[in-house]
Amino acid sequence: MADFSQLPIRDDLRGLTPYGAPQNTVRVALNVNENTHPIPEDVARDIVESIAGAILTVNRYPDREFTELRESLARYLNEETPDAQLGADHIWAANGSNEVLQQILQAFGGPGRTVLGFPPTYSMHSIISAGTGTQWIAGERDEQYTLTPETVTRWIEQTDPDLVFLCSPNNPTGTPLSLETIEAAYAASRGIVVVDEAYAEFAPSELPTAVSLLEGRERLIVSRTMSKAFAFAGARVGYLAADPAVSDALRLVRLPYHLSALTQAAAVAALRHAPEMLAMVGDIREQRDRLIVELEKLGYAPLPSWSNFVLFGGVDDPNAVFEALLEQDILIRDVGIPNHLRVTAGTAAETTVFLEALARL
Ligand code: PMP
Repeated sequence: MADFSQLPIRDDLRGLTPYGAPQNTVRVALNVNENTHPIPEDVARDIVESIAGAILTVNRYPDREFTELRESLARYLNEETPDAQLGADHIWAANGSNEVLQQILQAFGGPGRTVLGFPPTYSMHSIISAGTGTQWIAGERDEQYTLTPETVTRWIEQTDPDLVFLCSPNNPTGTPLSLETIEAAYAASRGIVVVDEAYAEFAPSELPTAVSLLEGRERLIVSRTMSKAFAFAGARVGYLAADPAVSDALRLVRLPYHLSALTQAAAVAALRHAPEMLAMVGDIREQRDRLIVELEKLGYAPLPSWSNFVLFGGVDDPNAVFEALLEQDILIRDVGIPNHLRVTAGTAAETTVFLEALARL
């Protein structure tokens, strides 16, 4: 990487490393927790028709308020959490939940402010903090990467952060986070509490998510994405649910027309087909549970997971295993946790290819 000696880059960006999951073209890509099932063809056709309609007026700027999309997202969340009774004004969206998180930090973080997170967690949380000049405070987790109400409370009391980032379930560990821990974090802090629920749809479906906690908690933000369960990663649509005042704050930092007319049309059409788009979630959960069982049989130590991936320990040389799998055209992820690797739950066939290759090593 460049040392920037010739460029007047910000001092606080010198020496940092960009997000860099490899993008190799491989037969079996199980490295970035995508939904590896393609979307159903009839749904794809309907989405294309909607995009085709939108392109006829692409000479004009898109709806800056993306109202139809926000209404569609509110309906989707209300199906899941009927008591939430969200309207469009509780919803905000952007190009991926990464952009949503960046806008949150632009509005509520920034120079002189701090954000508390609990590594190992989603690497972009600290990278976006750096990009927005917000100081990242690394808290510590309990046994097996869990997070109890007592631990978050203690860290918040000791560090008094402007924002708290929680990840439920956590990436890269898959660890569930209890609603009690989120409630405790909110009660202990004076700042914004963000719950990143990128993988929420893979958790046991009968259990409530943090969306059920929004009522009466004006500083709580639940961030979601269409990139994972919804199989829409390439379209770049993330969103949040929160008190309407949060959207008012984000309007101050977002770029005008940040969601293209094509993105809005595609996402609204996809949300019309939510049940079909989500049809593979059950299958993916099955493959995740199968990974846990089979990895254990192979002598590894997989962690409990409520997401669409599994972190497993007991790997003597993660780099050697990663490379040996890559030689067989299988890409998984070394997330930098000693003796651990992470694998996404793919289709049954992809899971089989991975497990058989691993067993042969
Ligand atoms: N949050 C978490 C925990 C993630 O793992 C990811 C993607 N890997 C994201 C947010 C961002 O996803 P997107 O920008 O595609 O919505």
